[in-house]
Amino acid sequence: MVKILIVDDSPEALAVARARLLSEPAEILCAQGGLAGLEAAKREKPDLILLDLDMPDVSGLEVCRTLKADPECSLTPIVFLSGSGSTEDIVRGLDLGAVDYVTKPFNGVELRARVRAALRTKRLEDILVEHAHVDPLTGLANRRALMRHLEREWARMQRHGTPLSFVMADIDHFKNINDTYGHGAGDLVLQETAKTITQQCRKTDLAARYGGEEFAVVVADAAASTASCLAERCRQEIESLRIGLRAATITTTASFGVADSIGLTSLDVLIACADKALYEAKKAGRNAVRVHEMVEFVEPNGMPS
Ligand code: GH3
Ligand code: MG
Ligand code: MG
Repeated sequence: MVKILIVDDSPEALAVARARLLSEPAEILCAQGGLAGLEAAKREKPDLILLDLDMPDVSGLEVCRTLKADPECSLTPIVFLSGSGSTEDIVRGLDLGAVDYVTKPFNGVELRARVRAALRTKRLEDILVEHAHVDPLTGLANRRALMRHLEREWARMQRHGTPLSFVMADIDHFKNINDTYGHGAGDLVLQETAKTITQQCRKTDLAARYGGEEFAVVVADAAASTASCLAERCRQEIESLRIGLRAATITTTASFGVADSIGLTSLDVLIACADKALYEAKKAGRNAVRVHEMVEFVEPNGMPS
């Protein structure tokens, strides 16, 4: 159910707005005052906020500014409730990112229509955001979402000094699957592989579709030794998949390259290192996991160079 948060310093105004909205198919929450409104917005993640402009503790404009600066709340639509609010305040509110305003005392019919309009726009925005970040075939994060996540994790790693690992995976001889069983079967293999990789990940890891038959996992707070265990579990699970397709049962394998951020100077280098390790795994005969450090610092006979 859609959640609407009403924020006003006046209990009477809250009660009136709430009563006007009760006929809408929505859960109506109330917060008295700006501070309580901020807390409720962060805690409840409403789909829409009706925000009084004029509040003594924290003004509506300030609440709006704070929420727009918070990545978790910045996309929540805000409709201002203005009493004697000046045009100047309304304009400032809209310029801060509010989507609309309603003047008090509100007409119930108008208030409900504006709420519905704001919710419609929000639904479209949600769809756009999802399309921009999710790979439609597998439901995994797409390349764009992966890069954003990596940039955030890289910055976090620099602040806290905890390592970050990157795993790249590529299905082996995937072209053969398409050629033998058709593109639809190939798609099914991609979906099953995506599911298998996701099952091996923790909540803090991000699995993504990197490209055609390439996947990636960002492993937070982990050095390559930990990430390579994850990759090895994925490798084994993918190898043991039995994908039923009409009369046939398809099996597949994947190769993995793992690198961590320790001693690296940039995100691009981290990706390149994982890619290089993946190449080594392919060269070693596929269906294998290779960690970057070993590629760089260990000779083929196992002796450090
Ligand atoms: P290797 O073991 O060296 O990785 O060989 P490969 O055949 O897996 O690699 P190659 O890069 O030659 O082929 C990848 C194929 O993946 C070619 C492309 O048609 C196919 N592909 C890319 N995206 C999709 C997709 O969304 N669905 C399907 N069914 N196939 C795809
Ligand atoms: Mg490939
Ligand atoms: Mg491949």
